[in-house]
Amino acid sequence: MNKKMNLRCIRCLYPIFHPLGLILDESGVCSGCLIHEEKDSLDWPKRWLKLEELVAPYRVDSGKTYDCVVPVTGANDSYFIVDTVKNRLGLNPLLVTYNKYFNTPLGIRNLANLRIQFNCDILVQNVNPQAVKRVTRTTLRQMGSIYWPCIAGQTVFPVQTAVRYKIPLIIWGAHQGMEQVGMFSHEHEVQMTRRYRKDHDLMGYEADDLLSIFDTLSEDDIWQYRYPDDADINAVGVKGIYLGNYVRWDPKSQHEEMIRRYQYMGANFTRTFDTYDHVDCYNFMDIHDHIKYLKCGYSKVTDHASREIRFGRLSRMQAQQLVKHYESQPLMHLEKFCEWLGVDERGLEFILNQHRNPKLWIETCPGKWQRKPETEELVQETPLAESGFLGFKSHTQLKMNKDDAYITVGKGYP
Ligand SMILES: [Zn+2]
Repeated sequence: MNKKMNLRCIRCLYPIFHPLGLILDESGVCSGCLIHEEKDSLDWPKRWLKLEELVAPYRVDSGKTYDCVVPVTGANDSYFIVDTVKNRLGLNPLLVTYNKYFNTPLGIRNLANLRIQFNCDILVQNVNPQAVKRVTRTTLRQMGSIYWPCIAGQTVFPVQTAVRYKIPLIIWGAHQGMEQVGMFSHEHEVQMTRRYRKDHDLMGYEADDLLSIFDTLSEDDIWQYRYPDDADINAVGVKGIYLGNYVRWDPKSQHEEMIRRYQYMGANFTRTFDTYDHVDCYNFMDIHDHIKYLKCGYSKVTDHASREIRFGRLSRMQAQQLVKHYESQPLMHLEKFCEWLGVDERGLEFILNQHRNPKLWIETCPGKWQRKPETEELVQETPLAESGFLGFKSHTQLKMNKDDAYITVGKGYP
């Protein structure tokens, strides 16, 4: 019996059961940490020139159409991406955003301010909310996911737009598989693929799989989430590139620059110390984060803490203390979600318990669950609620002194 086997990377906090797949080397350091080292060894000015060469053929001189499609939200690096594309590369982007219906007033504000600051056109996809609820109920029941429609929408609407408007270049921010687990080297210059989206973003289910496997949905519910045909993609020559392969990607310092220059705004969360990511959504850092904990054994604060360790801004021990404090915090926005979906909290809990990872959890008596000890790293340190030393700035609350309710349609601000 191998009692000494590492359950986690010895440098960051990622467990070996990371859903994107993680490899530990002989010394116990994970693939994500090793690829992160490239951020300090690659010749970034040279990589920037590669990016300029890559986008050059897509510039449209007529000025009558867009040079590229850029997916955005009211959070998550969107300002940095648009600043890079519009001001540094000098491209004229068509911004696209998928309305995920869990909008916070802060997210709507950040998105409105984004298009004003950068003077860009934006397309918003508002899928029929009744269909969104039906798909959410199905993916919750069958896959334990409330976020499938959000992720499916965010990842397909830019591709559909590229095909419809015949704009072949899509520019994304960072590649999560590379940032988190080092699935590729920056030098591989990996591009967007339908396969990665299906396998990782969508947990193995494309829109048509929902239709064929789960008999609760109809064509009307899913067609907006359907990826364009290969023939249509190839006819336009659609290609999706990631800026993170060409720019040294550091979300914390990028957001802080965007706060200074363009008045991006952050807010405090109860379940993480990062005040910049996901401020556009009531559920990502709340019920969705809780589900991640049940299924993966860790929550978003581990992603944030691991990232900060890699950048040298947190020690591993400080990171463990922060994770221990944040991952057990109660949910703040569950009532709104239950009301939106039309379920009661007990019913939701019952469904979620069925999706607890059996490798990680054991039901000690009916309805009572405990983390299996062998899947948990023993942390001796006391929880640390104080993260001010990291310097994350919070400007307001998610609800921005308005009603604590979803902004369900794509109306402007205020
Ligand atoms: Zn690591």
